[in-house]
Amino acid sequence: MRIGHGYDAHRFGPGEFVTLGGVRVPHPQGLEAHSDGDVLIHAVCDALLGAAALGDIGRHFPDNDAQYAGIDSRILLRHVRDALAGRGWRLVNLDSTIVAQAPRIGPHIAAMCQNLAQDTGVAIDSVNIKATTTERMGFTGRGEGIAAHAVVLLTAL
Ligand SMILES: [Zn+2]
Repeated sequence: MRIGHGYDAHRFGPGEFVTLGGVRVPHPQGLEAHSDGDVLIHAVCDALLGAAALGDIGRHFPDNDAQYAGIDSRILLRHVRDALAGRGWRLVNLDSTIVAQAPRIGPHIAAMCQNLAQDTGVAIDSVNIKATTTERMGFTGRGEGIAAHAVVLLTAL
């Protein structure tokens, strides 16, 4: 078995929604990124790649590569899943935390879990997403952006 950890953060910018776990959550600002800015999926990708000792998301999908401009991060996640399967690894379970002062994440967690379970090929009860504020402390607390942490466990296929 292998364990992996991932962390990501994106700054708010112009927009009308943020994409988290493949779900568009309405918000007066968007997240600045080369892709769709899905911090949760990016943290999950890094955790998966980390567990398999395959580096990080930046190595697999360089942010200066035009083919990834504005890309749906769920496509990246499915690429990562396939890369791991190709090396004989399968996800056992995934736990994650979104750190955001706003928007409210709770009502969207079930849909996010569904997306992550589908893209990683595990049952819904193997995926957990939590959300927290930092009680207005730090960059997330000041509403400058959103961060996400993820931990995964892999097993040999
Ligand atoms: Zn990112």
